[in-house]
Amino acid sequence: MKCSQGGNFSNGELKRFGNIELSPSAGVLNYGQGLFEGLKAYRKEDDSILLFRPEENALRMRMGAERMCMQSPTVDQFVEAVKATVLANKRWVPPSGKGSLYIRPLLMGSGAVLGLAPSPEYTFIIYVSPVGNYFKEGLAPINLVIEHELHRATPGGTGSVKTIGNYAAVLKAQSAAKAKGYSDVLYLDCVHKKYLEEVSSCNIFVVKGNVISTPAIKGTILPGITRKSIIDVARSLGFQVEERLVAVDELLEADEVFCTGTAVVISPVGSVTYLGKRIAYGNGVGVVSQQLYSVLTRLQMGLIEDKLNWTV
Ligand code: PMP
Repeated sequence: MKCSQGGNFSNGELKRFGNIELSPSAGVLNYGQGLFEGLKAYRKEDDSILLFRPEENALRMRMGAERMCMQSPTVDQFVEAVKATVLANKRWVPPSGKGSLYIRPLLMGSGAVLGLAPSPEYTFIIYVSPVGNYFKEGLAPINLVIEHELHRATPGGTGSVKTIGNYAAVLKAQSAAKAKGYSDVLYLDCVHKKYLEEVSSCNIFVVKGNVISTPAIKGTILPGITRKSIIDVARSLGFQVEERLVAVDELLEADEVFCTGTAVVISPVGSVTYLGKRIAYGNGVGVVSQQLYSVLTRLQMGLIEDKLNWTV
């Protein structure tokens, strides 16, 4: 689908996966006007296909487009395009319980622009790929390291939108962490350097007794759709959920720590290394993470009643 600056998106068309042509002076290549989303389609036992909260991805892309001075499809255009793409690729949705179809909507400034300015044209593309279950043999804990020098996002920046440059910005710290044997990086706020923000592509939660805390969304953290869903699921199960500043010291007292995101749903944290000190969490797979994972994945796969109408 294409749209000129100030105009509306045209109707989309289905095309075979392949390379696309772009002007060397396209806005996305020169000035980083690019946004993406990630969501999944699941096959139910009766062969019907379920999408999980696609309108939330549409709204997040619209919020991002506003910040990045881009045109974006309406929520209806986005959701209808996702549905049409999934339907056309139905045979690629893995059998029930064996994985999902990962859906990647992209929005880019595709028009040519030489001096710094918003692109005169925008292109919206969706591609898909089947993916297996992230955890094939039960939940497995990840080991995080806290980064001190490099930051993922700054106040007033673009940390709260899913723009491509945010991901380039984490590659250096993430590669260094992986080379040292860690699974990923946990970022702190760049002002006080003491409050938890998020992991390279997941949100973070800290469990202490019946209280589950997660950093509040204040412009430097991506408002994860899994995060939002887990907060509601946890509350419905009787947990007290707090969205607030979560100090790094709270990791020392926590019973469990877990991350949330579309790819992993929930990823239990086995350890966090902070200033060279390793804080470990039991066997790494806490009961709360296990319980929340079980409820949310069964809901996404249509195995339990969807009282909140999250699946379409
Ligand atoms: N934070 C970042 C930086 C991410 O890239 C993602 C993945 N989209 C998340 C959090 C989790 O968001 P969601 O639950 O919507 O996948």
